Amino acid sequence: MQETNQSSGVLSLDALEPRVLSCTLCPLAQTRTNVVFGEGNPFADLLFIGEGPGEVEDQTGRPFVGPAGQKLDEVLSSVNIQRADIYIGNVVKCRPPGNRVPSRSEMEICFPYLESQIALIKPALIVTLGNTATQWLMPDIPGITKSHGNFFSWRGGILLFPMFHPSYLLRNPSREKGSPKYLTWLDIQKVSKWIDEYRRTNNT
Ligand code: SF4
Repeated sequence: MQETNQSSGVLSLDALEPRVLSCTLCPLAQTRTNVVFGEGNPFADLLFIGEGPGEVEDQTGRPFVGPAGQKLDEVLSSVNIQRADIYIGNVVKCRPPGNRVPSRSEMEICFPYLESQIALIKPALIVTLGNTATQWLMPDIPGITKSHGNFFSWRGGILLFPMFHPSYLLRNPSREKGSPKYLTWLDIQKVSKWIDEYRRTNNT
């Protein structure tokens, strides 16, 4: 019988991490170098979720540290959001070979880890980066080109805000009005405004 992901009910990120780091539940375990658990503030009110680790992330075991991560840092720093204040993770924790999109079955098997992370971190706002992460969490909303920059309610509680994946911005370097970069600049300002207001209201 195939082993299933039994990560629900874990009491802390520290308890969850070793389970994920030794996970061999899906075929991505055979080709990964390192599992990328995710990192950041365990009490973050802002959680960023990408699709899966890329090459540099696979080599280092850290999320968003390659070229896309540097682009994300640029986007965050434009509104003075510090990585130390937020949490960043991915839908799948191991790199799909050649950076292909993770398969539905890989995402299904890995997703309980992310669900546990969300339950433990309890963010006020989830920012999904790119179409894969967005559609995985919110299959009923339009694709990223229409859904980015809008707030949605995820499972009736946490707000979810889709943005373009930073690797998409690397492939589309134009800064012209209406370009993905320009739209992302507007989107991150919305995130910043929302989280500032949330912190003011909640005294956090
Ligand atoms: S991608 Fe997720 S389910 Fe697959 S081996 Fe890695 S941690 Fe386990």
